[in-house]
Amino acid sequence: MLYLFSVSRTARWITAIAFAVAVWSCAQKSATEPTSSGPAACTPTPGAVCYGEQQYVEFVAGDFPLVISVPHGGATAPTKIPDRTGITVTDSNTIDLARAISLAFASRVGRRPHLVICHLRRTKLDANRDVVEAAQGNAESVQAWTDYHAFIELAMNTATSMSGTNGRGFYIDLHGHGHPIQRLELGYLLTSGQLDLSDAQLNASYSTASSLRLALPFTNVSFAELLRGPLSLGGRLGSATPSVPSPVVASPGAEPYFEGGYSTERHTARLPGLQIESNFTGVRDTAANRAAFSDRLVTALLGFLEQLGIK
Ligand SMILES: [Zn+2]
Repeated sequence: MLYLFSVSRTARWITAIAFAVAVWSCAQKSATEPTSSGPAACTPTPGAVCYGEQQYVEFVAGDFPLVISVPHGGATAPTKIPDRTGITVTDSNTIDLARAISLAFASRVGRRPHLVICHLRRTKLDANRDVVEAAQGNAESVQAWTDYHAFIELAMNTATSMSGTNGRGFYIDLHGHGHPIQRLELGYLLTSGQLDLSDAQLNASYSTASSLRLALPFTNVSFAELLRGPLSLGGRLGSATPSVPSPVVASPGAEPYFEGGYSTERHTARLPGLQIESNFTGVRDTAANRAAFSDRLVTALLGFLEQLGIK
């Protein structure tokens, strides 16, 4: 009896110690995790990192008036959120690409763009769709979608309220495509059929439909020139970074092409911008290629934005 009692008492002590260690471990873990402050409670000082609910969405505040959002690069796939139906393919390495672009900005101009990143895998949320298709009724996904777009709006308000910007800023929705032709697809909310038109036709009828429309009052450069002339982003990227539309390829024609989606449409009502669909090979496949591409992109972007008075 005495022996059994001792074993039992020892077991109770072991259980108590294990419980205490578990509580201590949990306390340690939560103390080192970043907090989820949400868009409303976020103070966007340069370099600050804010998270939405469950840390599904990350916002890195910058100090250059450019907002880059990344909807499809996430890998977080909690089983409590059911899988979505529809297109669920991940845009591989686009989160790393956005961070490389930020780093390239920092080394070129000493300032960084604002980054808004969705960490949920696209099987759980498609942040580049309206909320019904994006979250398909799941409450946590709806909250992440709401956080994502609220952070973009907070980033835009922060970007344009900084002194020296004259209220001007720019938006890029960053993606990765799987089309066979290895070139950037620059989406300005114009279809392939519209890009098949002449510059004169585009200038006459489509400038107000484009995601660049809010930038046109900032410059004397014509719309078609901004879209695909030597001064366009595609023109400035040059032959080292093939893109469409550009001086070399004015329209994708019958080839597969993404013209810009939900976020481009929604957020270029606030600031001019575009969707960049990046190819994989040579752009986002390796860390070295992401860094080299980012350097070329930043060179092109700085020139493009300067002619719009965005600096
Ligand atoms: Zn995408």
